[in-house]
Amino acid sequence: MLYPATMHSTRLTMRPMSAQDILNTWEQGQNQHPLDKALTLLFPSFPDSTKDELATLTIGQRDAFLLSARELVFGGRLNLFARCPQCQERLEFSMSTKDICAVKEPHEPGSIFELAAGDFVLRFRLPDSIDLAETAGCRDVAAARMMLVELCVQQAFHNGTEIPGRELPEEIVGRLSKRMAECDTRAEVLLDLRCPACDHTWQMLFDVVSFFWAEISSHARRLLEEVHTLARAYGWSESDILSMSQRRRQFYLDMVD
Ligand SMILES: [Zn+2]
Repeated sequence: MLYPATMHSTRLTMRPMSAQDILNTWEQGQNQHPLDKALTLLFPSFPDSTKDELATLTIGQRDAFLLSARELVFGGRLNLFARCPQCQERLEFSMSTKDICAVKEPHEPGSIFELAAGDFVLRFRLPDSIDLAETAGCRDVAAARMMLVELCVQQAFHNGTEIPGRELPEEIVGRLSKRMAECDTRAEVLLDLRCPACDHTWQMLFDVVSFFWAEISSHARRLLEEVHTLARAYGWSESDILSMSQRRRQFYLDMVD
């Protein structure tokens, strides 16, 4: 088989992460590579899927699901900040997950795309977490790009004759990278920003993995503090405290304070 078994997004059922999930995720993800961390973050929201299945999502699809998983736990508002590259003014702004999701519907993983450039025609699929993990050890960007060509290009033709992907010229490989990014829209979310102080405009890359991770980390630390306070006051176990609703936990916390 050319690529791993794909999952059909319509078959996926999602559920919100529990307090226990949040602590487990935080514990497991600590020292993980961002590619693994992304899957660790996603995993608890998909009770019927394995991590191997989630790894076959394209990066755009993975990030769209991360945004949905995040929405199920923390809601649809994202509070972001940026620093103006021109005058260093700090900007705080918020946006809705819908603003990002509205970009374009992602393609099913395993979909095949075509690129015609000059005398070359390529048939390719979009990179997933497994492909990117393969390229993580490459010495430079050019080597990583070439490895992605070998992994993702299903067929390459030069003037109608099939050729191995590794024989594609540098320029065509560059065109392919660009086309992959266009096809997998949500793999790279760029926000258009304008500085209110100096009117400078620029684009900021929104990285859902590090954003969601930072939120999970601070939420996990808060949960641990709550467990500490309640366990000390009432002698309850960690699992008893975590299995309470946030509302009920807060009620007891207010009485302890
Ligand atoms: Zn500025």
